[in-house]
Amino acid sequence: MNINDIRNIGIMAHIDAGKTTTTERILYYSGENHKIGNVDDGNTTTDWLEEEKERGITIQSAAVTVTWKKKQINIIDTPGHVDFTAEVERSLRVLDGAIAIFCAVSGVQPQSETVWKQSRKYKVPKIGFINKMDRMGADFFRVAEEIEKKLSTHTVAMTIPYGSESSFKGVIDVLEKKYLTFTSESLGADVVESEIPSDAEELIKKYYEKLIEEASRYSDDIMMKYLEGEEISKEEILIAIKKGVLEDDMLPLYAGSSLKNIGVQPLMDAIVYFLPSPLESKQVTAINVKNNDSLIIKADENAPLAALVFKVQNDIQAGLISYVRVYAGVMKKGVMIYNSTRNIKERAFRILRMSAGDKIDVPSLSAGDIGAVIGFKNAYTADSICTESNKIYLEKPIFPAPVISVAVETVTAGESEKLKNTLEILSHEDPTFTYKENKETGQIVISGMGELHLEVLLSRIKKEFSIDVNTGNPQVSYRESIRDEGEDEFEFERMIAGKNAYASVRLHLSADDNYNQNSINIDKNVLKNTSEEFINAAKEQLNNSLKSGIEFGYECTGINVLIKDIKIRDDSTQASIAAATALCFDNLSRSLHPLLLEPVMTVFITTPADFVGECINALNKRGGIVENIENRADDSTINATAPLKNLFGFTTALRSSSQGRASFIMSFKKYSVQEGGGS
Ligand code: GDP
Ligand code: MG
Repeated sequence: MNINDIRNIGIMAHIDAGKTTTTERILYYSGENHKIGNVDDGNTTTDWLEEEKERGITIQSAAVTVTWKKKQINIIDTPGHVDFTAEVERSLRVLDGAIAIFCAVSGVQPQSETVWKQSRKYKVPKIGFINKMDRMGADFFRVAEEIEKKLSTHTVAMTIPYGSESSFKGVIDVLEKKYLTFTSESLGADVVESEIPSDAEELIKKYYEKLIEEASRYSDDIMMKYLEGEEISKEEILIAIKKGVLEDDMLPLYAGSSLKNIGVQPLMDAIVYFLPSPLESKQVTAINVKNNDSLIIKADENAPLAALVFKVQNDIQAGLISYVRVYAGVMKKGVMIYNSTRNIKERAFRILRMSAGDKIDVPSLSAGDIGAVIGFKNAYTADSICTESNKIYLEKPIFPAPVISVAVETVTAGESEKLKNTLEILSHEDPTFTYKENKETGQIVISGMGELHLEVLLSRIKKEFSIDVNTGNPQVSYRESIRDEGEDEFEFERMIAGKNAYASVRLHLSADDNYNQNSINIDKNVLKNTSEEFINAAKEQLNNSLKSGIEFGYECTGINVLIKDIKIRDDSTQASIAAATALCFDNLSRSLHPLLLEPVMTVFITTPADFVGECINALNKRGGIVENIENRADDSTINATAPLKNLFGFTTALRSSSQGRASFIMSFKKYSVQEGGGS
């Protein structure tokens, strides 16, 4: 497949907006799926995890390939729930474009805003689908207005609903000036074009004008022709709008009802018209492992291999499946690759393209393409793949930290090895899920993004892996950082295994006010004068030191470490370098005022207007701070921040202050210094 003919897209939506149903229709109409799947019957292709079927939310991403209008469309399923932000971020990272689905009744909901902001961060161009036009209270134009206001983007209606609620019959294509209906005998597969119904002519005229106006913002040519009343071709208009889409400034909107099989094919055409090919997509940068320089990765199949593992899934039959996006070069079956995140060589035994329910073997994946690899035994989600002679890291997405921990133990004695193996598999799949074993007590603690995240994982452990576990109470995961900045050197000289061993390491430590993540950098001089093995020994030790904490035993965050100098002699070894590094870090970090940090969450409470006061009371009691309140016709949204440790059991408290009407969602915002924590 030519790279120009590939589209890597995702579908982002608030839970229940119809992502799964729409994906199913796309699979069906593109002819890849024999039978139309419905969420409510629990037989859809993308929701293949048991867990999802039961909860009705899409937790794990899956990549599915379809062909439409001679283009190969790789659909990467993005989850909607904020508790699974890492999944969302990871999939956004590998997408070139996305469909944003909105419900025509409930419009832009708080979670849609969160996902939208994330998509901005990764510069993902989007097209919009206003779904559920058949539902009572559906209003295409109100939702379009809401999108413009809340998500601060321009929109342009490409199809407009004809009729609404139970009388919703079809859509009018504003550009083609055609009325489209979808025959119910074909489950919507047959599209019938006819003249615009006379009662809609005025409206379409108005929206055609608006389309031209919007297009002329991106094309002086169209502007001129428009002013001079000249003919403007459809192609010109599509190209102009695409320009706005690629700048993430314009959202073309489509109306429909996936459930009633109306309006989906025009949306599929829009993927081809407006969303970029890998060549047109945002620039990808990587880091050269040798000298830390950053370099631009061109989507060129003749360039050295650069690929990212964006998802690892455990398949009962195939074992670990690594979903890979190739950014440059070609990844061939059977050929050795280099995983630069793990410093290991591996080989793909099979490369697969996942179409609906089918796995198709392919010999290779070229720049711009996405596929699934069987054979990478040691790959984790977010690992970089390259060649040994050309080692690079692709820029890594920033994953928010796991903030909640729970102690687990097996019900049956003797199953703890099996449990640890399972936890290892799950952490391969999900970098926001971690586990730790206390070497002295043998206690195992798992950590994740929220109570729901851990609940889902625990239930997978029980059902998928058949291990019965008992759990303790959820605990907040604290972090450590430092207040001051400083530098020190540690000289290590000791007998190790009967031989003298020497090393001296100089570190500079500083803290980043956002306490976002740690970084380890290496001075140019060190890079020039010290061998790679020695540098790696120091880096590995620093990673361990940062994990084990300073004064309180919690993982560090927000610490920037610079390796300023490494002095070696003939009797230096990797072990002596690691020892000097560990001791230097320990002494220095303790002298820089260690701080205890706690997770603070963003909280969105949705409540009927009558209970806003009560909800704010409940929030204040838990140390929450209201940032703003948004009132809508039927409900209000309170946007606040609160320390996570005070939010356990908040669901119940909120329900009792609102006669069961209010609900809330939360996501990690930042770490902040715990009152009285640290010196
Ligand atoms: P997801 O959570 O975004 O994946 O949403 P689903 O596709 O699972 O849909 C959520 C619910 O909305 C299901 O009960 C669907 O049958 C229903 N639904 C999806 N699309 C439509 C639609 O166009 N009209 C109506 N009335 N219901 C829909
Ligand atoms: Mg779904």
